[in-house]
Amino acid sequence: MRLLLDLHPDAYPLEGFRKRQLLEWVFVQGAGSFEAMTNLPADLRAELAGEFALNPFREIETVRSTDGSVKYLFTLHDGRQMEAVYMPYLDRRTICVSTMVGCPAKCAFCATGAMGFGRNLTPGEIVGQVLAVAGGEGIAPRELRNLVFMGMGEPLLNYDHTMLAARILLHPQALGMSKRRVTLSTVGLPKGIRRLAAEDDLGIKLAISLHAPDEETRQRIIPTGHRNSIAEIMASAREYQAVTGRRVTFEYSMLRGVNDQLWQARELASLLRGLVSHVNLIPMNPWDGSGFESSTEEEIQAFYDELEARGVDVSVRRSRGKDAGAACGQLALKRPDAVTGSVASI
Ligand code: SAH
Repeated sequence: MRLLLDLHPDAYPLEGFRKRQLLEWVFVQGAGSFEAMTNLPADLRAELAGEFALNPFREIETVRSTDGSVKYLFTLHDGRQMEAVYMPYLDRRTICVSTMVGCPAKCAFCATGAMGFGRNLTPGEIVGQVLAVAGGEGIAPRELRNLVFMGMGEPLLNYDHTMLAARILLHPQALGMSKRRVTLSTVGLPKGIRRLAAEDDLGIKLAISLHAPDEETRQRIIPTGHRNSIAEIMASAREYQAVTGRRVTFEYSMLRGVNDQLWQARELASLLRGLVSHVNLIPMNPWDGSGFESSTEEEIQAFYDELEARGVDVSVRRSRGKDAGAACGQLALKRPDAVTGSVASI
C-alpha cells in the first residue's frame, strides 16, 4: 500500500475542495486515520483507506528527559527503527528529524555512525516524524515551527527523499513551515551542497559539520572525510553563499584534546575569512565506548574567545536531552539488530 505522506501535496488524490479538506485533515488537524476525516463522505474515506496508508510507523515509544526534551523511537513497517527528538525550549519548539536508519558517514564520535547504514527513509517517513511528535505532544502539527535535519543519517546522501520532505514541510497547504526555520545539516559533501544551492525554490538553511580545520584531525574523526577535502568543502560553501546569498553555519563538536586546540581555532578563523558564517560549538555528548570526551567548559570558552577575537560569529550549543539518550549524536538504538551491516557509499 502507498504511503500518502510520500506524495507532494500537488500530487494528493481528490480534486479541488475535497483535496483541500484531505490536506487539512492530514497536516492541520493531524488526523490519525481516514476514518477520523468526518467531513469526507464515508465511501470516499473507505476508498482512500483501501489505497493509502496514513501512518508510516508500526510503533512509537517515547523517552522523556528531565530538561523537557523527548526522544521518539519509531518502528517502521519493515521493523527497522529510527528516532526524532522534540525540544520544547523557551518560546521555540524544535524537532530534530532523521533521514536514514543508521548512517554511512561513520563519524568516530557519533553513536549513529557506529551503527552503520540501514536504509534511507522515504519522504513520508521523514515528514511523518513531525506529525507523530505533534500528536504525541498534543499540539497541532503547525505548532512545530523549527525543524533540523540533524537526527540519524546524512540528508545529502538521501537527497531526493530529503528534498521532497522539505518541500512538503514548506508547502503552504501542508505544514507551511518557514524556510528560515528549517536547517539541513551535512557531514560536508561538496556535490550535494552545490546541488542544494541550485534548489532555488527551497532556500532552507545549511549547516556543515566541519569539526576540524586541518585534514589530519578531520580524517581522524570523520574517516569518510578523506573523499572530500576541507578545501573542497569550503569552496562549495562559498559557492552556496554566492548562489543563495545565505549565511552558512559550521558545526564544531568539541572533542577534548583532539580538535579544541587554540591553533585550530586560529586555522578555523582563517578558513572562514570572507565567508558570512556562523560557528556553532557543540560540547561532545559522550556515549559508552566512543573513546572521546567533551572539552571542558573552560576549554570551550578559550576556543570561543580565540574565534571571537578574530571576528568569527560564534555560539555554544547547550546540550539537551542527555539523560534520555536524545542529545545530539546520541541517537542510537538499543536494538542494534534493527540495522543491517550493509554500507552505502558516501
Ligand atoms: N549527518 C549530518 C546530520 C546528522 S548529525 C551531519 O553530519 O551533519 C548532527 C550533528 O551532530 C553533526 O554536526 C554531528 O557531527 C554532531 N554529532 C554527532 N555525534 C555527536 C556527539 N556525540 N556529540 C556532539 N555532537 C555530535
